[in-house]
Amino acid sequence: MNDLSRRRFLKISGTAVGVAAAATPLARTARTLAGEPAPVSGIQKIPTFCDICFWKCGAIAYVKDGKLWKVEGNPLDPLSRGRLCPRGTGGVGAHTDPDRLRAPLMRKNKRGEEVWTQVTWDEALGFIAEKMQKIKAAYGPEAVALFSHGLGGNFLKHTLKAYGSPNIAAPSYAQCRGPRDAGFRLTFGEDVSSPERTDIRNAQCLVLIGSHLGENMHNTQVQEFAEAVENHASIIVVDPRFSIAAGKAKYYLPIKPGTDLALILAWMNVLVREGLYDKEYVAAHGFGFEQFAATITPYTPEWAYPETGIDPGTIRVTAREMGRYRPSTLVHPGRHVTWYGDDTQRSRAIALLNALLGSWGRKGGFYAPVTMDVPGYPYPPYPTPAKPKVDNPDHRYPFAHETITTGIREATTTGKPYPVKGWLVYATNLLHALPNEAETIKAIQNLDLLVVVDVIPSEIAGWADVVLPESVYLERHDDLNVEWFREPFVALRQPVVESPHDQKPNWWIARKLAEHLGLGQFYPWNTIEDYLQHRLNAAGLSYEELKKAGIIRGTPQPIYFDEGVPATFSTPSGKIEFYSLQLHKAGFDPVPKYRRPEAGPSGYLRLLYGRAPVHSFSRTHSNRILSDMMPENEVWLNPIIAGKFDVRNGAYVRLKNQDGVVSNRVRVLVTERIRPDCVYMVHGFGHTSRGLRHAFGKGASDAQLITRYATDPLMGGTAMNVNFVTIETQGA
Ligand code: SF4
Repeated sequence: MNDLSRRRFLKISGTAVGVAAAATPLARTARTLAGEPAPVSGIQKIPTFCDICFWKCGAIAYVKDGKLWKVEGNPLDPLSRGRLCPRGTGGVGAHTDPDRLRAPLMRKNKRGEEVWTQVTWDEALGFIAEKMQKIKAAYGPEAVALFSHGLGGNFLKHTLKAYGSPNIAAPSYAQCRGPRDAGFRLTFGEDVSSPERTDIRNAQCLVLIGSHLGENMHNTQVQEFAEAVENHASIIVVDPRFSIAAGKAKYYLPIKPGTDLALILAWMNVLVREGLYDKEYVAAHGFGFEQFAATITPYTPEWAYPETGIDPGTIRVTAREMGRYRPSTLVHPGRHVTWYGDDTQRSRAIALLNALLGSWGRKGGFYAPVTMDVPGYPYPPYPTPAKPKVDNPDHRYPFAHETITTGIREATTTGKPYPVKGWLVYATNLLHALPNEAETIKAIQNLDLLVVVDVIPSEIAGWADVVLPESVYLERHDDLNVEWFREPFVALRQPVVESPHDQKPNWWIARKLAEHLGLGQFYPWNTIEDYLQHRLNAAGLSYEELKKAGIIRGTPQPIYFDEGVPATFSTPSGKIEFYSLQLHKAGFDPVPKYRRPEAGPSGYLRLLYGRAPVHSFSRTHSNRILSDMMPENEVWLNPIIAGKFDVRNGAYVRLKNQDGVVSNRVRVLVTERIRPDCVYMVHGFGHTSRGLRHAFGKGASDAQLITRYATDPLMGGTAMNVNFVTIETQGA
């Protein structure tokens, strides 16, 4: 039974919340694609939701005398609660970015040379459709794959399914949260989902393991973190780097990189040995506790000390702190968890630790998310693909439940289990998102067609045959946002201003491509507003209300076991699996076991990377408002290392990795806030795309240095914290 069908699809009353009095519909501000502009003056406030990252915060866009002025949070929206993060506030810069893609482009020279001919939309889409038909005739429709990130990819997914391909993937799985979701599924039978079902604001003890909330700016979580701090929650931070979150912690544990699983096992050992776990909860809902307890017996704090560098006393004190506040102790599952290759087992250990604390389904732990019941559009059925997905032949990664991007890449290179000849890439810069750029470029050489749809000329766009410029989120409609969250709601993205050049919304691109492919019957609606209206009407909701408010909230529902949510678990035993029958059957450790991570070459430092509060991946560096706040990244060096290499704070260096790859020059931040066995940098900088004139060459690219990765044997995730660098001061 799939995850969605197990959850509670809750009908809502359909009552809209109060409508923003000053909100005005789009038609008075900007013309639709077919219509003419209406004259405007004064200030208009138009609700929509943000797309600077994928969190989809409800926003109000202000238009002053017909021009986009500012973007603020929509107070009606439960995700943003009236406040945007710094990136969302800088959303205006996405609209005004002078480096944006302006018109469809077709490759003129060799792939990667970035020499283009500007063409019409008809020419571009006609070319793509012809190539896709040729690929279909020669190899079958499965030979075209889509890489997509975010809600905007929904319509392209629809077109590709109508074309007949099942190969649709997002880096957000195998390069990010996949191991976490696999680990929690194996334990509780359900994903953590996104937005995460973490009840941070009610946590009395919050444990963050390598999760740097506040730098990793998921708006709702950061706001809830601030509430937890204000409520004097006891905060425990485990990180080789003293993050912003560590600055709020009662206990900061500067762990040796790669040894987190050892610490978690030792914590569980203390909880069980000292009887501090939730015995009643475990007895009622647990399966295989005896085998679990026996397996973790050797993992004492004394055993963990030489592995982790955390002294036994601190391990005991922090374990007791967690036990003291249970079940309102939340050990955060993290989000970007593809670190060392044991990531599913580490995530499963985090799930088990939460299970011991009784926090799953409990206030201050993990709530049971709810959603609005908004049916999908009644499209004709898709053709059944003749071949299974290409990414995971023979289920070599038995616990992968989404498509593995790097599996598609591998099939593209090898032609096995069958050839992949076309890539459609929507809003994801694959050269920065996938590990080992050279492998991605090698796969690209085997393609007959590479199409990139994006708003900026990202690195992957530079390798495309056809580049299609998308309108930014403030200029377009998108599909409805119907989240699983702590309360049900539906949100609308609607255009606020016109696209400045010949950019088009994703739904228009996907629909036109379908028409060029002879699949027009899969788009039976006349306009995007007809589509949206149809879905809302089917849910008993008013499109007019949604246009005015941006959000319709449903009736709050119970979200904790203690409020009557049934404590059910979709695992083989129907219980929380302390001992996993599925893992046992597949030949993996049924209870996580620790294996020491591989060390780097002598004298090299482990390369760690993370997020900044003012940027999203590699997609915001040409946004002038955001780049003004952070134009380049820095490499963090411990003073011992800085002394060894004789570099000063603010100096520029280059990083050389274990395979001899040398980075751009990057400025040094000398700080005690990082251990001497690793370096840290913010992800996504060091652009090489010539079209990104403003961001070109600023900072260093972690992606370029990530030439190695370890594949998670359970679900195929690519762990990237397995690269090591040394410092080069010459020529920087
Ligand atoms: S977290 Fe920030 S960037 Fe992401 S959607 Fe929300 S406001 Fe926008």
